[in-house]
Amino acid sequence: MGSVPSFKTMNPWPAQPQATNPFLTRGEWLKAALHVHTTASDGKVSPREALEAYRRLGYDVVALTDHDRVTLADPPEGLTLLTGAEWAAAVPDSPAGFHFVTIGIGPVEAAPIAALHNRPAKMAALLRTLCPLVIVAHPYWSALTTELLASLGPAGALEVYNHGCELEDALGYSHYAWDQLLARGHHWLGLAVDDSHWSTPDHGGAWVMIKSPDRSPASILAALASGCFYSSTGPAIESFCLSNRTVTLRCSAAASILFRCNGSLGTGLHRPGPGESLTFAEHLLPARARFVRAEVTDSAGGKAWTNPIYLA
Ligand SMILES: [Zn+2]
Ligand SMILES: [Zn+2]
Repeated sequence: MGSVPSFKTMNPWPAQPQATNPFLTRGEWLKAALHVHTTASDGKVSPREALEAYRRLGYDVVALTDHDRVTLADPPEGLTLLTGAEWAAAVPDSPAGFHFVTIGIGPVEAAPIAALHNRPAKMAALLRTLCPLVIVAHPYWSALTTELLASLGPAGALEVYNHGCELEDALGYSHYAWDQLLARGHHWLGLAVDDSHWSTPDHGGAWVMIKSPDRSPASILAALASGCFYSSTGPAIESFCLSNRTVTLRCSAAASILFRCNGSLGTGLHRPGPGESLTFAEHLLPARARFVRAEVTDSAGGKAWTNPIYLA
């Protein structure tokens, strides 16, 4: 591993993410695609074409995350490019094993990472020294158990939604795994991504809204690493706050607003009837609630997910 630079020696922010509430933080909202493939691995469009397509869709930030390599490209005007890559590790009984999406990874040699192919926890630990955010990709599609995910450590990040996996195999939603980790006290972040390969309409379906003080890669990576974002496939979330044990949320027109806690301690609020909508929800959490995260669903089936807020 001698030639792999250490992230911790180069960067000031922590590799272990702790959720920061983006709705209580100053900055601008930036729309981001954080899992994108190109012809540099198994995607069907060039890096430049991928970046231009996302810019046309109004995105502000893209991470190119090709397999086993860091793809470099010149981003079009107005788009911030984050470095990225996706790395595979084997797991017995899982056809796909772990796929780790690394965001903000520096120039690295693939060989020392690939050498840990059969030791996923060691690979994850190495990757966390090389970049500010390591995301476990598509847990449902990879058939990853909660125990396997928890073996990676008490703090991490996973894809709560992977658009490509949903389009191709209806295995895109991984909220069950996320809630299991949170209920066991693991402070994991959740992100929605495209995992675009461009052979199906798999780009522009899921994104992350990051609250960042500016558009520099350093600021955006710091915001991501601290959990200062929410994710969406449609709805916009305007506020999500906890005061004592009362949680409130404001959003664009929704069919339902769910507050999810450990076990069944959360609740669901639904529009009164078809054609009507909700834009606000408030709920007094039970004393045994240890975290709360929100999930908004609109009338078209689009969803948005906040990161958890933890109760003392
Ligand atoms: Zn993958
Ligand atoms: Zn991928």
